[in-house]
Amino acid sequence: MTIVGVEPILMTSATLPNGDLRDVYIENGSITKVKRTGTPPSDNLRYRSIDLQGYVLLPAPVEPHAHLDKALLVNRIGNPSGDLTGAINAIRAAYPSMTREDITDRAYLAVVEAATKGYTAIRTHSDCGPTLGVRSVEALVSLRTRLLDIVDIQIVALAEPGITGAQGRANRETLVDAMAAGATLLGGCPSIDDDPRAAVGELMAIARELECDVDFHTDETTDPSMLALKYLADEVIKTGFNHRVTASHCVSLGVQDPSVAREVSIAVAAAKISIITLPQTNLYLQGRERKTNKQRGLTAIADLLNAGVCVAGGGDNWRDPFNPMGRIDPFETASLLVSAGHLSPELAYEMVSTNARDLMGLPQVRIEAGSPADLLAVRAGSLAEAIASASESRIVMRAGRILSRSTVTSERDERF
Ligand SMILES: [Zn+2]
Repeated sequence: MTIVGVEPILMTSATLPNGDLRDVYIENGSITKVKRTGTPPSDNLRYRSIDLQGYVLLPAPVEPHAHLDKALLVNRIGNPSGDLTGAINAIRAAYPSMTREDITDRAYLAVVEAATKGYTAIRTHSDCGPTLGVRSVEALVSLRTRLLDIVDIQIVALAEPGITGAQGRANRETLVDAMAAGATLLGGCPSIDDDPRAAVGELMAIARELECDVDFHTDETTDPSMLALKYLADEVIKTGFNHRVTASHCVSLGVQDPSVAREVSIAVAAAKISIITLPQTNLYLQGRERKTNKQRGLTAIADLLNAGVCVAGGGDNWRDPFNPMGRIDPFETASLLVSAGHLSPELAYEMVSTNARDLMGLPQVRIEAGSPADLLAVRAGSLAEAIASASESRIVMRAGRILSRSTVTSERDERF
C-alpha cells in the first residue's frame, strides 16, 4: 500500500555512521534498499532524489525525557538559587499563570523546534497535583493528537512530591485523574517524599492497579544516602511487575562507592529497569553545595552498561527554572555524554537514539532495508563531527516523509 502523498525518495551519497558512502531508497515509509553510492537503480520507480553529499545520515533521535509543560519559561521565571529546590519552588509559584492555553502554546513551539532538530518522538512528563490540577495533561493530550503526523508524544503524569500518608491523598487522587485524562505512563518523585521507600510502594501499587508503564524521577541528588533506585528494583522483583519501568536521573548512583554502584546496577538489570541520564539539567542543578571538587550529576553510566541495563540520554528541561540553557538538540545531549560522561561518540549517539527508542517501546531504526524511514541527515563528515559541530543544516524524515529541511548560509567578507 502506498502512503498517500508520500513519493519514493532516493537519498544519494549519504555518509553512514561507519563512514561508508551509500544511496538509500525509501518507499512507503520504510527503507527498501541501501546500495553502494553510484549503483544505478534497478527498478522503474520515479524517485525524488536528494543529494546527501557532505551529510551524515543517522537513525532519527528521540527524546526520552522532556517537560513540555515547563518549556520556554526562562524569560518569565528565574531560579536564583540554581538548585532543584529553587526550581521546584519557582515552578509552583508559576502554576497560576500556567493556563491550558499557555502550556499548549509553549509546548507547541518546543515541539516544532525539537522536530526541526531531528526528534521524531518525545516522552514528556506533565505536572499534576491539587494546585495545577490536570490541565497540563489535558493540554499535552490535545497537542499529541494535533501533532500526530509530526512526532510521537508519550505523556507521563508527574505527581507532585508528597505521595504517601494522609497528606498525600490529594496528590494520589490527582495522579489517577491525570491518567484518566490521557497520560499513558505513571510518574512521580519518590526520592523527595518524606518516606521514599513507602513512596515507591505507593506509586507502584497505583501502577499495578492501572496496569501501566512507569517513569520516576529518581535520586536527583548527590547525597549518597538517598538510593530509592534500590527500593524500586526490590519492589519490581518482589511484585513481579510486568510493565516497563524507567528510572530517570539516578544521580546519587553516580556518587556511590564502586562496589555499591556495581551491586545496585546488577539489581537494576535483574529488575529490567531502564535508566535515563540527563546531563544538561543535572550538571546545572547538582553539585552547587561545593565550591571545589564538584560532582557531575550523571549516573553510574559505565556500571549500568556493564550490568546490561538499557541506559538512554535525554535533555530534560528546555529553558526553564530547572535548566535555562536547554538547547533542544540531541547533539547537545550526545556531546555532554562524550565530554562529561566519557562515552565514545558512537555510544553517546546510541543513547539518544537506539537506547531511547528501546525504553520508549518504539520500533528500532537502522540504515538498512526494512527499517522505518525515521532519519536525520546532518551536514558533517562523520558522526563525531556531527555531534561536535551540531550543524543546523539538517533534513528530518519521519515515516518516509521529509518533515523539515534547514540550511545554514554564511556570508563572509573578502578577507576570508
Ligand atoms: Zn525531569
